[in-house]
Amino acid sequence: MPKKPTVSAATRVAPDLIGSGYALPGTLASRYMRCGKTNCRCKAEPPILHGPYLHWTRTVAGKTVTRTLTPEQAERYQPWFDNARRLRETLTELEARSLRVFLDAEG
Ligand SMILES: [Zn+2]
Repeated sequence: MPKKPTVSAATRVAPDLIGSGYALPGTLASRYMRCGKTNCRCKAEPPILHGPYLHWTRTVAGKTVTRTLTPEQAERYQPWFDNARRLRETLTELEARSLRVFLDAEG
């Protein structure tokens, strides 16, 4: 009989995260870009790039999908991205600990 896993930070934090309701997949990044125009300031020396643009990137059916968010949207949904990241970290920790318990018990 495997020993009962101890209650950890991971198992305590998971219900709080799930309880908050929302978790958005992917990553939100702030990027400066060059455009397609030939004589633009973004082609100058030194270049003055466009942006920052807030790009939300995620994978849908194996393809990368990017959507640009407004600063207001980014601020509004940042906690949902944070939740998803913490849930991924928590799952990784929980899986690692479960694997150790399994190997201790079953060899
Ligand atoms: Zn440009």
